[in-house]
Amino acid sequence: MPITTAEQYIQSLRGRKLNVYLFGELVVEPVDHPVIRPSINAVADTYKLAEEDSELGGAVSSLTGKRVNRFLHITENANDVVMQNRMQRCLGQRTGTCFQRCVGQDALNALYSVTYDTDQEHKTPYHERFRAFIKQMQEENFVIGGAMTDPKGDRSKGPAEQADPDVFVHVVERRPDGVVIRGAKAHQTGCINSHWLVVMPTMRLTEADKDYAISAAMPVDHPGITYIYGRQSCDARALEGGGADTGNAMYGGQEALIVFDDVFVPNQYIFMNGEYEFAAPLVERFTSYHRRSYVCKAGLGDVLIGAAATIADYNGTSQASHVKDKLVEMAHLNETIYGAGIAASHESKSTAAGNYQPDDMLANVCKHNVTRFPYEIARLAQDLAGGLMVTLPSDKEFDSSVTGPILRKYLVCRPGVSVDNRRRVLRLIENMTLGRNAVGYLTESMHGAGSPQAQRIQIGRMMRVDEKKKLAKKLAGVDETQDKPAKK
Ligand SMILES: Cc1cc2nc3c(=O)[nH]c(=O)nc-3n(C[C@H](O)[C@H](O)[C@H](O)COP(=O)(O)OP(=O)(O)OC[C@H]3O[C@@H](n4cnc5c(N)ncnc54)[C@H](O)[C@@H]3O)c2cc1C
Ligand code: SF4
Repeated sequence: MPITTAEQYIQSLRGRKLNVYLFGELVVEPVDHPVIRPSINAVADTYKLAEEDSELGGAVSSLTGKRVNRFLHITENANDVVMQNRMQRCLGQRTGTCFQRCVGQDALNALYSVTYDTDQEHKTPYHERFRAFIKQMQEENFVIGGAMTDPKGDRSKGPAEQADPDVFVHVVERRPDGVVIRGAKAHQTGCINSHWLVVMPTMRLTEADKDYAISAAMPVDHPGITYIYGRQSCDARALEGGGADTGNAMYGGQEALIVFDDVFVPNQYIFMNGEYEFAAPLVERFTSYHRRSYVCKAGLGDVLIGAAATIADYNGTSQASHVKDKLVEMAHLNETIYGAGIAASHESKSTAAGNYQPDDMLANVCKHNVTRFPYEIARLAQDLAGGLMVTLPSDKEFDSSVTGPILRKYLVCRPGVSVDNRRRVLRLIENMTLGRNAVGYLTESMHGAGSPQAQRIQIGRMMRVDEKKKLAKKLAGVDETQDKPAKK
């Protein structure tokens, strides 16, 4: 039976006997772990959105002829790409965190065209296999984790030059019926909350790196896979019973290190196997998709701007001109993120395979804005919040018959606003700028889909500076025919 509701999704994660380690222990049932559960709730909301708004959260797939979850849809026109962004902003607004499904969505769309191109060049069977895989995922309505980033060891060396070959995922054995892979993928968003993983190479590869040119899919509970859960700032507050101190008790993100210890993948699920020259196009098409997926942060920005405006209102400062101006500045930065992302999607063009690929320049500009603007928005939110955001006593003090009344006397703000509401909003701002969801709002904004320099390299490649020089020279009336070439 396909998963159709958020509740069915949560049930589908139960009893899988995954090898998940958190705080040094094997987690018996991740679904019931208080630190993990908020991240599951965030993914569940993607199912809820599809139930509530089937146009935004879903799309009709030509592969199955049925409406499928938008995260599993292969884009068939530019509007499909735009709708992904609208959905991502909406989910960011609903959860205030990373809802984890876009890496899989973007991996599917990048592999769709790369498998096609690889087949044209090498007469391989990848594209049909891949279409069959997507169809299977759509029929089951599964969550897919996109596993690209390797631990990478010494960054000055390529995969084949590393002292330990396992710091990049690679093929250790080729059999007639499939391959065996070994290695790890780092920082993997939502992997434990997924049903399947799609592994891809992380960088441009050379002939020497042939064994690292592997892309394959496998179930999350496949034998030989171990997950080591990433700690998030203030995550242990989730162990305290879900009070105001958590800031956002319902939703959180998830990252883990995935270890592949000689994992067998049958041919049916292999989509690249040694075609090293297609690693670079795969990375570029994936990042182009994923860098404009970061409009999710505009949804989180909406929440943070709302929290900042609320706390200013509670504090009695909302009419001050500098406060209004700071909120305007936050909105301007936030819409700039969204503007570049949605423009990249609107400018999508068809690939040879028939799906749509966003504009690479605008996608990189979107992500580059994301590496900066959320930090400034967070700074302004902290400015408006006041110092109490970080000096606020714990829930336990508010619950105490000794300290509770004292705190409620001294932490009053504008008349008519309860101290409890004030501290809830302060904790939300803390959560998004210093706590658990700062992982998603800030550091993920910096490094997810590539660190800032990766975008600058792409922008540099695509900026067509010679064309721009010609434009300037023409208007300035420059005549270089008599100029002497510069001495070497
Ligand atoms: C919260 C979060 C979620 C993520 N989710 C996923 C996911 O779901 N799937 C996935 O595949 N990946 C995911 N990533 C990984 C993300 O793509 C990487 O973090 C990013 O590509 C940077 O890699 P890195 O973290 O290894 O940092 P590094 O590559 O070590 O970068 C650190 C710094 O070193 C610089 N640097 C790196 N290499 C060189 C070099 N050769 N020469 C000069 N300078 C260099 C960089 O520019 C940067 O300034 C996630 C990351 C985060 C933080
Ligand atoms: S960081 Fe944003 S784009 Fe990436 S998976 Fe999370 S919500 Fe989606």
